[in-house]
Amino acid sequence: MVRETSTSTTRQTQANQYKADALVFNVAGLLGEPIGSVRDISVSSPPLDLGPDLTQSRDVEGDLRLTRTNRGLLVSGRLQTAIEVTCARCLREFELPVDIELEDEALPSIDLVSGQPADVEAEPDVLRLTDHHELDLEGEVRDAVVLAEPMAPVCREDCPGLCLVCGRELASGPHDHQDDEIDPRLEALRGILDEQGRG
Ligand SMILES: [Zn+2]
Ligand SMILES: [Zn+2]
Repeated sequence: MVRETSTSTTRQTQANQYKADALVFNVAGLLGEPIGSVRDISVSSPPLDLGPDLTQSRDVEGDLRLTRTNRGLLVSGRLQTAIEVTCARCLREFELPVDIELEDEALPSIDLVSGQPADVEAEPDVLRLTDHHELDLEGEVRDAVVLAEPMAPVCREDCPGLCLVCGRELASGPHDHQDDEIDPRLEALRGILDEQGRG
């Protein structure tokens, strides 16, 4: 699948302090610096397109530190975003914050000394810089966001769910009917839901 990426417009604010508006960073400069050299990047990147089933409702924001290692770059930091999910109990949509911790070594795909392609096969699972010395974190962030989606999200721990008689949210206030109007068949279902609620 071809993925369109755009390289960050990185703007240097002070020594080693950068701002980025995308998740692809040109790191050619840093690769040319001595081991231990650091770039601190403040990221603010628009939501990714996660397909029809998942919507990212906030920008990806946070701070990254790129450190030049003997082999490539150490990428560390924490990014935040949020996804739109539906409460499994009351069916209300709500925003679920997603925290992404990064601690990865990214290796060049071109040998920096010889200019020859690196032996990518030797370490197939490692994060690779692109042929153009770019660090592309879109895949990492995408995977983390997709993994963060719970099987059965709840809008709050004690969400009481929906009234079995009128279908209204139980959290929304008093009802104009009595509990004893509950259809006995629904009573059994309510028992099951209560069980789940405790689970
Ligand atoms: Zn709920
Ligand atoms: Zn009701």
